[in-house]
Amino acid sequence: MSVAENLQAIRGRVNAACARAGRDPGAVTILAASKGMPPEIVTEAANAGVILFGENKVQEARAKISACPGRLRWHLIGHLQSNKCRDAVSLFEMIQSVDSVALAAEIQKCAEKQARTMPVLLEVNVAGESTKFGVKPADVVAAILEINAFPRIEIRGFMTMAPWSESPEKVRPVFRRLREVQRTGEDALGAPLPELSMGMSADFEVAIEEGATIVRIGTSLFGPRPKPARE
Ligand SMILES: *Cc1c(COP(=O)(O)O)cnc(C)c1O
Repeated sequence: MSVAENLQAIRGRVNAACARAGRDPGAVTILAASKGMPPEIVTEAANAGVILFGENKVQEARAKISACPGRLRWHLIGHLQSNKCRDAVSLFEMIQSVDSVALAAEIQKCAEKQARTMPVLLEVNVAGESTKFGVKPADVVAAILEINAFPRIEIRGFMTMAPWSESPEKVRPVFRRLREVQRTGEDALGAPLPELSMGMSADFEVAIEEGATIVRIGTSLFGPRPKPARE
């Protein structure tokens, strides 16, 4: 299957999930998780109609973005180390993986130096997995209020990664919980936090039924990832 055929199949599934949930398919954006994929494959996806791409590592993204068509939009979706903030702020349209107030403070400094405002999502570790990054649900309100005080950061919503499961139904409560966290955060802030980035190849339909506005899809679009080179 080509990337274009895969994209068509994914769009069909997105539309069906939206229909089941009574949602407008235009309210769900497909983000192509392009880690490990070379610029030629990204360009193939772009030619098939994908506009938004997500990268996990600043270094990989830096080389890739410059080799891809200039009209593409890029989000950072992987853990960011504070010493890479400067590049992240200049390369990405949004940082979805803000997983601590300390990281937000670093992003604030870099955004200030570059005189730009950085849209971000707060990554929430809903299931409390020790292997995943993110703020605990109980700490979200405090984090939102602190990050909102940074003038160069604009919080747009939340991101989560559900635990791996053979059955997408099993992770539905994780997505539902992120939506509750969103409501609590909006109430505390007194402002909308509209974006919910949740759902990957294995579980994006359930995530859409629970309110996802961005689904991050890698293997269903591109096929299996090549093994990452050793660092
Ligand atoms: C790789 C990745 C995805 C996509 O995963 P697939 O299972 O290949 O669709 C989504 N989100 C993040 C943060 C990722 O690292």
